[in-house]
Amino acid sequence: MKTTKKFLLPDERVPKVWYNVLADMPDLQPMLHPVTREPLQPSQLEPLFAKGLIEQEFSKERWIPIPEEVRTLYKIYRPTPLVRASGLEKALDTPARIYFKNESVSPVGSHKLNTAIAQAYYNKIEGVKHLTTETGAGQWGTSLSIAGKHFGLDVEVFMVRLSYEQKPYRKIAMQTYGGTVHPSPGTSTEAGRKFLSENPDTPGTLGMAISEACERAMKQPDTKYALGSVLNMVMLHQTIIGLETEEQFDMAGDYPDVIIGCFGGGSNFGGISLPFLRHQLAGKATFDCIAAESAGCPKLTKGTFRYDYGDSAGMTPLIPMFTLGADYQPAAIHAGGLRYHGAGAIMSQLLKDRIIRAVAVEQDTCFEAGSLFAKAEGIIPAPESNHAIAVAIQQALQAKEEGTDKVILFNLSGHGLLDLPAYESYNYLRAASTK
Ligand SMILES: *Cc1c(COP(=O)(O)O)cnc(C)c1O
Repeated sequence: MKTTKKFLLPDERVPKVWYNVLADMPDLQPMLHPVTREPLQPSQLEPLFAKGLIEQEFSKERWIPIPEEVRTLYKIYRPTPLVRASGLEKALDTPARIYFKNESVSPVGSHKLNTAIAQAYYNKIEGVKHLTTETGAGQWGTSLSIAGKHFGLDVEVFMVRLSYEQKPYRKIAMQTYGGTVHPSPGTSTEAGRKFLSENPDTPGTLGMAISEACERAMKQPDTKYALGSVLNMVMLHQTIIGLETEEQFDMAGDYPDVIIGCFGGGSNFGGISLPFLRHQLAGKATFDCIAAESAGCPKLTKGTFRYDYGDSAGMTPLIPMFTLGADYQPAAIHAGGLRYHGAGAIMSQLLKDRIIRAVAVEQDTCFEAGSLFAKAEGIIPAPESNHAIAVAIQQALQAKEEGTDKVILFNLSGHGLLDLPAYESYNYLRAASTK
């Protein structure tokens, strides 16, 4: 029987269910209505989200079936490879075994497509015609643009102005997939006009772009909003990463001790770690789960756990989360996907309960790690993913010092082939400093 496993077609190896950690955690503090501050009723989210997604946001079912239409699109690029980073192990001369889950092989180059496809699907089956969203570096807007196209939905993206100007290639990708892209803040929404009047030179933030996208969804008929991270439903969709990884470790006859992901709102880290953490929550295993955030936007290590808005204008529900404040202006770091003021409720609660932990990494350390990884493994990582790589390297060097052979797993959330200008400035600065 054992041998048949190896010959399963990719078709069969794409999971048929997502894992919902809310089935295994004590109840989260409820989201609150932004105006009344009363616990939010699911129906109050209907102006923004499809009913099928709202149901998932509040569901306590442990296993949620992946619709066949969604699985069919997942099969284009899933299962993604689990790779033993032997080149990196050699470069570090470490006894640790390092593995990475390679989400960069998706057609858009990151994990974000996993939830984009699901969100577009549930909107499509409820008759929605247009989707609005925000995007930072452009990974999410790109994912939603193609996911919308797969299901015949128009997609309108509010892109943080800093990235719109610094990262023109993702804008072109979105437009190529048929999406419409606006720099944010802009003049097409009330919220955007207000942000601009207060601060005409603002480079924008994800919080501002979310306000613009929500406003458009609430004011335009047949239109809903989609969010690429933070929400419980997004963590749910992303668990496909960890579920596959678990199966792949089983095939490899190995098991992780340390699980690492970079952290923007928590979706790629939650996606890889939650399926493993279910064993810890059941008291059957322990993992060292480390969220690697940017020192330029340190919500987990320097923020506070409290109720806060998901956007800058205060339109979204209040979410119980680690936050730097909805009006926080993050540093202009290259890792645009990590420039978000808050962390999703699930990952925030797990951090508060010390089931996961967090470290903040400086930008230079990240690019040094990413450059080493590129040379060792041949993949140029996304600036966001470099945070996870930096922590994986620290862990591997620590294992070397201690002479232990622990197993380190990290999520390679995306590739950096559209972020080469960020590498150029790092290479340039490095050359200048070694002269
Ligand atoms: C968006 C993004 C992130 C950060 O978002 P999470 O929800 O924390 O995963 C990290 N890496 C890449 C490549 C991204 O596109």
